[in-house]
Amino acid sequence: MSTERPRPPSVEAVLAAARRRGDGTREPDAMLRVAREAVADERDRLAAGADPLGIDGLADELAARLAGFERAGATPVINATGVIVHTNLGRAPWPEAAIRAAKEAAGGYLLLELDQDTGRRGARFRTAEEHLVALTGAEDALVTNNNAGALALAVGLAGRGGGVVVSRGELVEIGGGVRIPEIVRRAGGRLIEVGTTNRTRVGDFEAPLSEDRARLVLRVHPSNFRVDGFTEAPDPGGLARLAHAHGAIVVDDLGSGALLATEAFGLMHEPTPREQLAAGADLVTFSGDKLVGGPQAGLVVGRADLIARLRRDPLARAMRPDKATLAGVAATLGLYRAGRAVEAIPVWSMIATPAASIQERAEAVAASLCGSAASLGDSTAAEVVAVESTVGGGSLPGETLPSFAVALALRSATRVLATLRRGSPAVVGRIADGRVLLDLRTVHPDDDEQLTEAILRAIEVPA
Ligand SMILES: *Cc1c(COP(=O)(O)O)cnc(C)c1O
Repeated sequence: MSTERPRPPSVEAVLAAARRRGDGTREPDAMLRVAREAVADERDRLAAGADPLGIDGLADELAARLAGFERAGATPVINATGVIVHTNLGRAPWPEAAIRAAKEAAGGYLLLELDQDTGRRGARFRTAEEHLVALTGAEDALVTNNNAGALALAVGLAGRGGGVVVSRGELVEIGGGVRIPEIVRRAGGRLIEVGTTNRTRVGDFEAPLSEDRARLVLRVHPSNFRVDGFTEAPDPGGLARLAHAHGAIVVDDLGSGALLATEAFGLMHEPTPREQLAAGADLVTFSGDKLVGGPQAGLVVGRADLIARLRRDPLARAMRPDKATLAGVAATLGLYRAGRAVEAIPVWSMIATPAASIQERAEAVAASLCGSAASLGDSTAAEVVAVESTVGGGSLPGETLPSFAVALALRSATRVLATLRRGSPAVVGRIADGRVLLDLRTVHPDDDEQLTEAILRAIEVPA
């Protein structure tokens, strides 16, 4: 063996080889940049004692790297967790109509801020806001890029240093370390806490409101946790009357904001924006990608004068959604008005799927696994078990839907779970009682076959 380290070919030689093979139609600067990276990596590999790729090998490598940049970014995922609105997996899958609308908006031009009759600059695309008005009975509506933004904007109505009064039972962490007290402070408000963790009454708001210390009452829906036992929350109507008697604004952050009655699906009642407005809230904010089931957005509904103030706020400009999102939100909301929400919005279709049809699919997946894999010849290795799915995404905490999962009883459940997760598509499941559980409520029926294949690939990986 030679003591001298082999040297990689020159960047020029690799580029010349690539051009000879017809890979020369790309912009030369981009090719040069990637060829340099490939040659630099080859130098490191050789220094570590690896076999040289050679000029042709490096030209292949260059072609593969360049092609890789052209592929769409994210790895597709099969969500077999049974958590319908899964924050780590991108929350709501969009309805077909929203995908189509966003694609059209993205790929062409639209009347975003142009009045079709006058040809002059008009109000920014209003369709989503018009749907919100019709669906909630609000005077007006505004769409921002997410609900945290909508909330910060609404709290800003208290003005710099203005008192914002919140029950101690509602000073929550939304997720990802974002907490209500910090949002209030960053929005310029001065937080006034009243009541206790488990019990707060309307009377607790009396002092800060009557002493003119509070300009805004903020109610935050406890969307991602539940307090049981000796609890009491202020009646929304009573609180709104008290706030209004003292000239304060009531902002209600609903979080998930259902536009359909959740109790019709065997779930606990989730307050709706319409109800909160009827109970006296001046503004209600909620997410576009939780129970609404569309693109990420913040939806604000309520009093026309307040919405007009929010629209004029320079921060509203910083929080406005782009044309594709706006088109997707409008298309999603349109499905509610068209009476097609349950059938066409995936979040609601998944909520509405009867357990029996999930069981049938799970049986089929388990049967084809046992039929195809020698290692699963034992019929108990892949069986169907009853499980509970959850709505997730900070909606309906503690509420579950009966469902069925394919359970894999294999030697190393953790390893199989990791192998499934690292595949393409990535399959995300969970472990219970030492078995990998794949809940089919959150798997699209069209993906059952892909799921079966992914499981077969994962269990064939040697231990
Ligand atoms: C989820 C949630 C938010 C944040 O909404 P995003 O759309 O994620 O910004 C705010 N408040 C409550 C109560 C929530 O549940």
